[in-house]
Amino acid sequence: TSIFSAVELAPRDPILGLTEGFNADTNPNKVNLGVGVYYNDNGKLPLLEAVKAAEKTRLEAAPARGYQPIEGLGAFNTSVQNLIFGTDSPLIKEGRAVTIEALGGTGALKVGADFLKRLYPSSKVYISDPSWENHRALFESAGFTVENYPYYDAATHSVNFAAMKAYLAALEANAIIVLHACCHNPTGADLTAEQWKQVVAVIREKNLIAFIDMAYQGFADGITEDAVALNLFAASGLQFLVSSSFSKSFSLYGERVGALTLVTENKEESARVLSQVKRVIRTNYSNPPTHGGAIVAAVLSSSALRQQWEAELATMRERIRAMRISLVEKLKEKNVPQDFSFVVKQRGMFSYTGLTAQQVEQLKTEFAIYAVSTGRICLAALNTKNIDYVATATASVIG
Ligand code: PLP
Repeated sequence: TSIFSAVELAPRDPILGLTEGFNADTNPNKVNLGVGVYYNDNGKLPLLEAVKAAEKTRLEAAPARGYQPIEGLGAFNTSVQNLIFGTDSPLIKEGRAVTIEALGGTGALKVGADFLKRLYPSSKVYISDPSWENHRALFESAGFTVENYPYYDAATHSVNFAAMKAYLAALEANAIIVLHACCHNPTGADLTAEQWKQVVAVIREKNLIAFIDMAYQGFADGITEDAVALNLFAASGLQFLVSSSFSKSFSLYGERVGALTLVTENKEESARVLSQVKRVIRTNYSNPPTHGGAIVAAVLSSSALRQQWEAELATMRERIRAMRISLVEKLKEKNVPQDFSFVVKQRGMFSYTGLTAQQVEQLKTEFAIYAVSTGRICLAALNTKNIDYVATATASVIG
């Protein structure tokens, strides 16, 4: 018999399964709102001009492809710290931030999870209810037990902060709390700066460990504005972890560019932490690939390219916002009974629309519009050509 005969077929990834169904659909009006990527107004995945320019320069320089250091490209790691904390951050000056280049935001979360498991083997991990669909499996695969903390309130389409705070305040010391820095996936509902202050206070008081996931910096209000949670944690003097993803903000999904930053007590502690994080990396994938990090570092460290990138990021952010506003207006024009104005308040690429699983199914079978059964839609999949069709279909299934 085969050495693999006991292997059972794993369940299909629900979102990838949706895309397979979409690809096979022959309806010319089909729309895939289930995706987790940014499409431009032509419904295409963009290659940013700033990225193109940095790639051209790199291609002409034709650098050799030696191994990178275990922690990745130094220039990339420095650029990431400057981006997330600001160039004047005392954290950086005092050597309290350790950054390693990771394989996307997912890779950063996994390196952080593996490191924390060695340090706090009996801690539990707490993720928001609901959260990005990979958070639970990722921390479980690092060996943790994962629980949900209260987060989204479907009735108000926003965060039930009182419940979240009360839950965190009752947790055991060294519990690991995964927080979305901005543009919460899947709900689009974020904490206010005032609420973040209270989260920092609870984390300090209860000796909890914050792991902040920042996959959409620049997609809500702007690069610095979206770092409000990070800045509050930075100012608190606490130690914490941050995973960054450049998949969306640089439209570099397949290049797998991300970073893990650990904020320590002092420079000497940073050296010890880095040495242990490097052991985690060495035994997983040894060192990260060269291309994506080099491109992001080149863009962030050239003032011209950085300016160009910021403008392109603003275009993505503003287009998503325009789609939110337009969708709400169109639904109103069609006299739907519900008030959808909350969609404009939600931030980032996603919205929990409140559509039921049955309505989502109807959108698919009657209109070839694909969405996740939870009612999550990706606003960045809407454009000026398909939004009327989507609004009409939505009004029809809820009417
Ligand atoms: N964290 C959140 C909240 C996300 O939404 C995503 C991607 O969808 C990730 C992490 C993973 O990012 P990456 O694709 O860079 O691994």
